[in-house]
Amino acid sequence: MKIGFIGLGNMGAPMARNLAKAGHEVTGFDVNAPSPEGVANAPSTTDAATGADVVMTMLPNGAILRQVAEEAIPAMKSGAVLLDCSTVDVESARVVAEQARASGLGALDAPVSGGIGGAEAGTLTFMVGGGEDAFATASPLFDIMGQKAVHCGPSGNGQAAKICNNMILGVTMIGTCEAFALADKLGLDRQAMFDVVSTSSGYSWTMNAYCPAPGVGPKSPADNEYTPGFAAELMLKDLRLSQQAAEAVNADTPMGERASELYADFVEREGKGGMDFSAMLPRFEKRGRN
Ligand code: NAD
Repeated sequence: MKIGFIGLGNMGAPMARNLAKAGHEVTGFDVNAPSPEGVANAPSTTDAATGADVVMTMLPNGAILRQVAEEAIPAMKSGAVLLDCSTVDVESARVVAEQARASGLGALDAPVSGGIGGAEAGTLTFMVGGGEDAFATASPLFDIMGQKAVHCGPSGNGQAAKICNNMILGVTMIGTCEAFALADKLGLDRQAMFDVVSTSSGYSWTMNAYCPAPGVGPKSPADNEYTPGFAAELMLKDLRLSQQAAEAVNADTPMGERASELYADFVEREGKGGMDFSAMLPRFEKRGRN
């Protein structure tokens, strides 16, 4: 396939490189980053989008996605698919998809889970919203870049799945970290705490696979001084998107709201945005109740 790839940052560059390595003809554009190995360099979004069967975007947020889509859509050939893999607000995903469809294009929102490591290894999970035909067109690309693609329904539902998943992740990480901090103060050994919880009803991905306590459980960012992994500032971004969506549909999400406040304190007041999101444990450890 001929693929235009807009947004060649931490995630986009390895994804584009994997598509090129698999034999697709990939042309990239980024305002601030060179094309990776095997990917041709276009001078603009319009140039990257012209003649492509699929135009992929991997951008920082919904406002930038809307701007890029305004440029890309008029340049795309009829029947081509606009495939956005960024994490953005549900509303932007739906607006952009509607614009694409009005111009005779297919549109998918397909945010990912798996981080930079997953992008490099081609083991991402895609959560996809949009039509069946567009999903069928993009499926061979999902197979190259990832290990799983779940079709979640119409446009916006990929973003909905992503923010619901990450709201659970943020809330669970905080629960796991505050429980470890409480266990410390009760004199309970961290290894004993892990051995019990990881095989009891408190088990979770954050405890079992990504334990926030250094030296306990499988290797995780805690064992590397909380170097991300998944940065706290990205967790805050996703929690805020979840709360923006919850407000738009009047959903009661008290734990998501509290998790969003706690990560906002951690990232914006305490300047810890560059640390892994599991670094909530040393934060709780140092604090008392007030
Ligand atoms: P990044 O900042 O490294 O990359 C974004 C790229 O977009 C940058 O290179 C930037 O120059 C480029 N860009 C910005 N405006 C542009 C424009 N108008 N035209 C062309 N290029 C433009 O971010 P990232 O870590 O690659 O993340 C990309 C998306 O993936 C985000 O939405 C993020 O939330 C999501 N995501 C990231 C991770 C992760 O671990 N990094 C995991 C899952 C999802």
